[in-house]
Amino acid sequence: MPLELVTIPCLSDNYAYLLHDPDSGQTAVVDVPEPGPILAALDAHQWRLTDILITHHHPDHIQGVETLRAATGAMVLGAAADAHRLPRLDLALDESSSFSIGREFARVIDAPGHTVGHIAFYFPQSGYAFTADSLMSGGCGRLFEGTPRQMHATLQKFASLPPETLICSGHEYTTSNLRFAATVDPDNPALAARIAETAAARAAGQATVPVKLSVELTTNPYLRAHLAQVKAAVGLPDADDVAVFTEIRARKDKF
Ligand code: ZN
Ligand code: FE
Repeated sequence: MPLELVTIPCLSDNYAYLLHDPDSGQTAVVDVPEPGPILAALDAHQWRLTDILITHHHPDHIQGVETLRAATGAMVLGAAADAHRLPRLDLALDESSSFSIGREFARVIDAPGHTVGHIAFYFPQSGYAFTADSLMSGGCGRLFEGTPRQMHATLQKFASLPPETLICSGHEYTTSNLRFAATVDPDNPALAARIAETAAARAAGQATVPVKLSVELTTNPYLRAHLAQVKAAVGLPDADDVAVFTEIRARKDKF
């Protein structure tokens, strides 16, 4: 049985996620943009928070951590490399770390690019990857600290996960990400279809995350920089994949 997964909208366009193991009662939250909606979701499910998982140091992912820790006594887990700029960690993680929620072991994936200490959490049995602002629905995070080469390598790690993996990213940016994607991958019918599906979901007030990796592989331009059709569309038919990725990311910054 997969862990129960609850997507929680926070602030204007952030997401937090709850993970719950019914047998042990262990319950984790991934990122804490604000405490209120998370406490409300815990209350609604009658779950007791045991673990707070942090992906990276930006305020819109950590600013509710201390309130939640004080309210629940949960353990806080985050990147050892970023311990100096994260809330106090009860467990400092690197890529060799693993921890469990109930009986399910999670893997820590280093995901530099958006920030240098960004990590992701992968639950292989349930098939969830919490990627926050690294691999995002239809896009990837802005490169505030890392290089394009780092982010490209990060995204390649996610691209190699099983295609049915659910990508749980940190923001509701899908609409604008896909609008940009169409400018660098214009002859992609899967992308056109996804744009229409996303518009319908948003019109109905639904979240567009999580999303299957298989969908990202066919529509996310940052996972498609190796394709001749994308290289041609950005005017770099003979460039290597990292150069094409770099060009796509730079264009998005000006989009
Ligand atoms: Zn961020
Ligand atoms: Fe963010």
